[in-house]
Amino acid sequence: MFVAMSVTASEADILGVKSHILAEGLTPYEHRGAERLVIAVVGEIGARREVLQDRLSGLPGVDSIKPISKPFKLTSREFHPEPTVIRVLDAVIGDGSLTVMAGPCSVESHDQLMETADAVAGAGATILRGGAFKPRTSPYSFQGLGVEALRYLAEARERTGLPVITEVMEANQLDIVAEYSDILQIGARNMQNYSLLNSAGRTQRPVMLKRGFGNTIEELLMAAEYIVSAGNPNVILCERGISTFETYTRKTMDVSAIPVLHQLSHLPVIADPSHATGKRSLVPPLALASVAAGADGIMVEVHPNPDQALSDGPQQLNLAQFRAIMARLVPIHDLLREQEDGLRPRATAAAGAH
Ligand code: PEP
Ligand code: MN
Repeated sequence: MFVAMSVTASEADILGVKSHILAEGLTPYEHRGAERLVIAVVGEIGARREVLQDRLSGLPGVDSIKPISKPFKLTSREFHPEPTVIRVLDAVIGDGSLTVMAGPCSVESHDQLMETADAVAGAGATILRGGAFKPRTSPYSFQGLGVEALRYLAEARERTGLPVITEVMEANQLDIVAEYSDILQIGARNMQNYSLLNSAGRTQRPVMLKRGFGNTIEELLMAAEYIVSAGNPNVILCERGISTFETYTRKTMDVSAIPVLHQLSHLPVIADPSHATGKRSLVPPLALASVAAGADGIMVEVHPNPDQALSDGPQQLNLAQFRAIMARLVPIHDLLREQEDGLRPRATAAAGAH
């Protein structure tokens, strides 16, 4: 449940509600929305629900008590109707602009990363990706350059001005990855690694959480709930394909997850057609489909010479292919968002323009 405070509630009233929640052994989470302040009551409420509801509604400054019908609370739209907008350096994610995270699957060398970074920045990417610690299905495959790759990523950020995203595979890598990277990526294989989620929730860096390929939308949102409830509200969700009986594509891109996630949650949604399809020829159509379905952006793998790549070669775009996809994606994104603005009530569209 959450407590909606009245517009005239004082700071003392807000404190009073929070103290009451804490005294019950539950945790209050405050959200200052566009219209008013709301406080989520999180924890095992159980049989206390009705009594608690009565007590809270009698406290000074309380307007009403509302249920949150979903098991995910802080990540739900019911609690937080406005979209979460995340700012990292000059990049803004979730504000209606198109986020494009691009770069190699793995950082393989200094020159490979710099060449890719210059090209994707020049073509309009907003965030640079590159794997330093790689979760590989086979222990014999290239495992990433580790800290050396982190240093190259930081150098590429200086060179291009683009913020950097890279994967963190375990909690004991968090400090070093957060030192070099602007956004922490938690990969599909770690989506339900709860100690990693909790630890990432205690950092100040935004986190992109990728959907596990065997996980439901609800499980993804429950995993995001771990990060937000641990204290980090800046979570980006990523649809990257799920396992189905289909074998022609590497995984099956669940395009419907994009609008479902937007309906259920206020968190931004990024689509990754590279890992979903595993085939470079399928990346452009699925990127377009994702943006048409309302994704806040895409993540695509780009390599100067994909045939020589040490990981995921068949799905990486070369530099010219990345430029080509951007030339199609940007005008389509702009057109779709213009149409959406036209459909919104006038007052909202005007407010959004400020
Ligand atoms: C990646 O983006 O580098 C990656 C390994 O993706 P996923 O976790 O979705 O497989
Ligand atoms: Mn990859």
